[in-house]
Amino acid sequence: AKSSGRGRVEAFTSELGEIQRRRATLERELRQALARDELEVYYQPQVDLKTWTICGAEALVRWHHPDLGSISPAEFVPVAEATGLIHNIGAWVLAKASSDAKQLLPGLRIAVNASAAQVQRASFVNEVRQLLQRQELAVGQLEIEITESLLMEDVQTALENLHAIKQLGVRIALDDFGTGYSSLAYLRRFPFDKLKIDRAFIRELTSTSDARAIVRTILQLARVLGMDTVAEGVEEPAQLEVLQHVGCGSIQGFLVARPMPVQSLIQLRESWAKL
Ligand code: C2E
Ligand code: CA
Ligand code: CA
Ligand code: CA
Repeated sequence: AKSSGRGRVEAFTSELGEIQRRRATLERELRQALARDELEVYYQPQVDLKTWTICGAEALVRWHHPDLGSISPAEFVPVAEATGLIHNIGAWVLAKASSDAKQLLPGLRIAVNASAAQVQRASFVNEVRQLLQRQELAVGQLEIEITESLLMEDVQTALENLHAIKQLGVRIALDDFGTGYSSLAYLRRFPFDKLKIDRAFIRELTSTSDARAIVRTILQLARVLGMDTVAEGVEEPAQLEVLQHVGCGSIQGFLVARPMPVQSLIQLRESWAKL
């Protein structure tokens, strides 16, 4: 029993070492990724359920490393956040998405994810202001997605920065809503234009009555507070049916389309416009 216990400890220790090595590799390679032009921005369309038109798209960063292959943002964004690289990467994504929006996706609203650390910095507000001043971004085309983790940090600075970018004509969406710890009071204090209902609720929408009740309640709350709604991770027609029935504003998910390169989104918009 003793030796098997030690075996388990050794296996655990080596696995931990494996994780640490991978992390160190990612950190080292991520420092070069921007300069080597390995990052890309993909877009996933959002569809308005009333008009059944593409009303926006979420920008999602992609990293393709020549040796390591494609690395998920779920894996490398946390590394970027821990090392401060998120400020460079975030600024690059913001600039790229802005230029794609203005030049290639006119009239389409583009939602860009911002990490809590980014929103805490005044430089973030300046980046947005400069893009607008240099006319590299059209007023009203940008939406920033933040998560509830922001609310755990320096709330005052975040609040000021969000108000500042909102005054520049940028919309603000609260991502992954329902999974965090934000109190209802925050919903009123923060200038959110949109609630994104987390995929966890959508996944259970057709199997549990709880999820359905929660989604219904979130939609009511959004209506009362004058916020738009989008359901994330819609994969099945049955989920869409429930969402239409309970009056959700828009949807995003594999049912409509996976995240795609900007050229594919341009084509998708053209084919939808002909419908
Ligand atoms: P998120 O912001 O919640 O983005 C939604 C994620 O769900 C995306 O994963 C998207 O590809 C995936 N998704 C969309 N529809 C479906 C569906 O129907 N089913 C399933 N199973 N998944 C779906 P992705 O692109 O791998 O991004 C993962 C996370 O990485 C994002 O979660 C976000 O937190 C972060 N991220 C991505 N791009 C950026 C960025 O530019 N900046 C920052 N700060 N974070 C980013
Ligand atoms: Ca998001
Ligand atoms: Ca989300
Ligand atoms: Ca998420």
